Amino acid sequence: MNAQELKRYAREKGADLVGIAPIARFESLRPERSPISIFPECRSVIVLGRRILRGALRGVEEGTNFNSTYGMFGFRWLEDNFLSRTTYDVTCHIESHGFEAVPLFGYAPDGMPVGHPVAEGKPAPNVIVDLDFAAQAAGLGEIGLGGFFLTPEYGPRQRFALILTDCVLEPDPVIEKRLCGDCGACADACPFGAIDVEKKVIAGVPGHQMEVATIDYRVCRSCPNGAMAGPGRGDRPDRGAAACARACVVRLEEAGKLANKFENRFRKRKPWALDLFHRPIGADEAGNPAYLGCAARADAREK
Ligand code: SF4
Ligand code: SF4
Repeated sequence: MNAQELKRYAREKGADLVGIAPIARFESLRPERSPISIFPECRSVIVLGRRILRGALRGVEEGTNFNSTYGMFGFRWLEDNFLSRTTYDVTCHIESHGFEAVPLFGYAPDGMPVGHPVAEGKPAPNVIVDLDFAAQAAGLGEIGLGGFFLTPEYGPRQRFALILTDCVLEPDPVIEKRLCGDCGACADACPFGAIDVEKKVIAGVPGHQMEVATIDYRVCRSCPNGAMAGPGRGDRPDRGAAACARACVVRLEEAGKLANKFENRFRKRKPWALDLFHRPIGADEAGNPAYLGCAARADAREK
């Protein structure tokens, strides 16, 4: 089994994205977030992705259907059924070739249950691998200023799962930041100022790190503009269909940066927005919510 054959098999099983990182790229991660803690003999980390259909965002973009469009096909079913199935099939395939393979979901660690270390020197279970780091290490894309993982194919529209294996596979090169132009559209689209582009943190693979805005997920948890929670996922809300991520889709598509192209533009009408009490709030001419100084922030950045 080699990398090319494995990728072909993964795509046959529904993967839209497949990348491979050597385990050496994870040495900088702390044990609580590292695949090495889960499988010390791991030699390769395989990152599998399935796209979030642009059409799965449509109901949220129009503000008329949240759950049977994105909630199922873009979030819970996509992650827990479609992507899980792809991951399981690829894992079985690797083990059929005599290599151990550990399938892992791609949930965020925030608020996930933490137990007690079972022995000295071991991190407490459950270790949850830093997914954005893994996807970047596997050469699939970059972490955008707004905290979304961006791929050249779909921008922020995908979900990932991982497989750790003791099989040595040819790795993919890490790609540099080239999609996110720090445009700030994600921050401008947030009615609550939850994306602080003035306060950045450094994230990503050493030697290829990038600046990411601080996200106040406490605010996102109450956001009625497309943020969602899912069962078993801790307390970081999913932002894939929220106003911030849809603004990013619009910006990257308009800039012609994404390989997955469409006949018609995604944004067809002025975006809607709700305040924290779920009351509609207006939008300015640029489509930014006229609330809590979003337009003022955008103006200030342009000066
Ligand atoms: S999920 Fe809502 S509150 Fe959080 S950054 Fe996006 S638009 Fe703002
Ligand atoms: S909207 Fe602009 S700044 Fe925000 S993540 Fe997307 S490309 Fe980067």
